[in-house]
Amino acid sequence: MRLAVLKERRDGETRVAATPETAKKLAALGCQVAVETGAGLIAGFTDQAYAEAGAEICQDAATTLFGAGVVLKVRAPLAAGEGEVDELSLIHRGALLVGTLEAGANPGRAEAYAAAGIEACAMELAPRSTRAQSMDILSSQANLAGYRAVIEGAGAYDRGFPMLMTAAGTIPPANVFVMGAGVAGLQAIATARRLGGRVSAADVRPAAKEEIKSLGASFVGYEDEESKSAQTAGGYAKQLSADFYAKQAEVVAAHIAKQDIVVTTALVQGRRAPILVTQAMVDSMKPGSVIVDIASDAGGNCAATHPGEMYTTANGVKILGYTNWPGRISAAASALYARNLLTFITTFWDKEGQAPKLPETDDIVQGVTLTRGGAVVHKSLITAPAA
Ligand code: NAD
Repeated sequence: MRLAVLKERRDGETRVAATPETAKKLAALGCQVAVETGAGLIAGFTDQAYAEAGAEICQDAATTLFGAGVVLKVRAPLAAGEGEVDELSLIHRGALLVGTLEAGANPGRAEAYAAAGIEACAMELAPRSTRAQSMDILSSQANLAGYRAVIEGAGAYDRGFPMLMTAAGTIPPANVFVMGAGVAGLQAIATARRLGGRVSAADVRPAAKEEIKSLGASFVGYEDEESKSAQTAGGYAKQLSADFYAKQAEVVAAHIAKQDIVVTTALVQGRRAPILVTQAMVDSMKPGSVIVDIASDAGGNCAATHPGEMYTTANGVKILGYTNWPGRISAAASALYARNLLTFITTFWDKEGQAPKLPETDDIVQGVTLTRGGAVVHKSLITAPAA
């Protein structure tokens, strides 16, 4: 079984879907691993390191994909008109494509995979179950995004994080407020605490309150009957009423004016990120304060975020609205992402057939499979026929 690892060509993508470590393990499984030249370079993995791990280094996408039965990607392959190479047209019929495919947000993408006869697995759709934990790319990447956001926030903040007592006087600790205490937010809280900040956090899911406190941060938030059921069966936050958001905003407004660093991570699955930091709240902050918006890929949690950019407001607040936060820590993010994909391949590896075998009844397979046998099969993409 030939397994291809392409160079990522989408704008700003710095990660790679296999590292020399996972390439070696894939080779040990029996795969003939083909890596496109330069695929890991931005993340610090050289062609030589892949070659030493047993991979064949190929000069372009076409040679890498030639004869490949499995294709590992970080982001969806480029289709015609999306860039310099039409990667999709180079993937063989029947090949298994594994990556962050974002088909829900890109209409027509899953249909294109089906038409090309590609068996596409979107790993971001894996269930959040104990069994799927080691394949959970959302968690591995969010964790690093949360860490990196605080580090970049600290870098942009012109004062200190910890209380600094010196002969020349005392610098007070930074007040850090983390909005959204999922995987990224909890790591942001832990990182900000380690740096010596005075940390508080908010979330709408009832379970998050205890998690926030267990990390030594204080809980800030509005709670009512609605927020008691703010969590879906899958553990995600629900979209809440305008009335709830307004009341939450009142509580947050008073708090935010006193903060030095605000890290926002709040997401509602399948929707634009909720605006939690309004323009008026930004205006209330002190000059030199920093807002780090990890939700900027989903539009941002701050009304003044410019997605993809660092922006300083008229009142001197820096807003870090970068997109692809895991890509800003590319070596570690690639290492974890690559292990997630390796676990997926090894879990469903058929030793006798020397190929992946994805049982249709398996809940992880059902969760991630977009297309099979030339058809779109994922339940989130199939519209119910009109009655
Ligand atoms: P996410 O990225 O979807 O959202 C980030 C956080 O934003 C969530 O905690 C959410 O509640 C919060 N949020 C949404 N609206 C908000 C608002 N108005 N104000 C404040 N916060 C708001 O979340 P995630 O990190 O993917 O985690 C989602 C769930 O999945 C959690 O319950 C987590 O514990 C669970 N999880 C389970 C596993 C597992 O069991 N294997 C793995 C990872 C995550």
